[in-house]
Amino acid sequence: MPDVLVLVDHDGHHVNKSTYELLAAARRLGDPAALVVGTPGTAARLGESLARHGATGVLAAESAEAAEFLLTPAVDALELAVRETAASAVLVSATTDGREVAARLAARLDAGLLIDAVDLDASGVVTQIVFGGSYTVRSQVTHGIPVITVRPGSFEPAEHPGTAVERTLTLPAVDPAASARVTDRRAAPAGDRPGLTEAAVVVSGGRGVAGAEGFEVVEELADAMGGAVGASRAAVDAGYYPHQFQVGQTGASVSPRLYVALGISGAIQHLAGMQTSKTIVAVNKDPEAPILDLADYAVVGDLFAVAPQLTREVAAR
Ligand code: FAD
Repeated sequence: MPDVLVLVDHDGHHVNKSTYELLAAARRLGDPAALVVGTPGTAARLGESLARHGATGVLAAESAEAAEFLLTPAVDALELAVRETAASAVLVSATTDGREVAARLAARLDAGLLIDAVDLDASGVVTQIVFGGSYTVRSQVTHGIPVITVRPGSFEPAEHPGTAVERTLTLPAVDPAASARVTDRRAAPAGDRPGLTEAAVVVSGGRGVAGAEGFEVVEELADAMGGAVGASRAAVDAGYYPHQFQVGQTGASVSPRLYVALGISGAIQHLAGMQTSKTIVAVNKDPEAPILDLADYAVVGDLFAVAPQLTREVAAR
């Protein structure tokens, strides 16, 4: 059976949870081959945990300059891997980088691109939430191999003990004139919190939080539940919280087990990034706020009264 290629998301030492979700999704289509793009030695470090999560092959595309350039090494490696393994499909996480890598790859391969999949079946039919969440559609690629971005949180990672066959791909040298070079890396100021797209719980604040200091109540609730902090675009644009935490159409797409929206009205562009969350709790002082219609648990009240009570209750358990 041809391989289903999975692009591994990693920090050089650990595999991100979204990759294990991709491996679970890929197993529905065939045998997953995990492609590790990184500096020499990375695939050897990550191979065991990839095999444990269902990879039947690990492809190492390593070079000293892999971490020096944005996106190009991943696109080059995927293109090479598709051609060398005659892969039947490519799965990439629907993160900011993953979306761009997938789009560039599909253009290079003249292949069909399906974005933001929340489900897929063995015949390659993908379920997507489109037009800002207004419609659920099922789509299938009819030209070339499918390149699919998968929304983090949509699949349950599963362990499949086994070994993976290792292979090495020789990456072509990056053309600096056609690539963006990384000049500096700074860690996001998330402290010990889980990453936004990886977290089982996300607590987000909106314009109703009314200022950067107001986000303390959001952070306290997130910390009590071991969750990540998110923000609406209005809160980000107003400077209450950094941009990398924005949830929505032009921010991160999340699908946690629990999403708590504090002082967020529920504009369609926000819903587009979080409405596939398994359980949604919304706190809003306006009983007409659209998010209350979507929420599984709607609390009409002042977030500054409700959120601290929730935090105390959770912390007491
Ligand atoms: P508001 O709509 O102003 O809502 C604030 C809410 O807080 C209100 O419902 C109010 O009743 C409530 N509130 C106020 N005080 C309290 C209190 N003390 N206690 C409880 N509730 C209170 N938005 C995103 O979020 N993500 C995106 O990715 C995104 N992308 C966009 C892309 C485009 C092309 C466009 C045009 C817009 C995009 N937007 C996005 C913006 C979106 O349309 C909304 O403007 C935004 O989501 C509103 O944010 P908000 O809910 O925080 O603010």
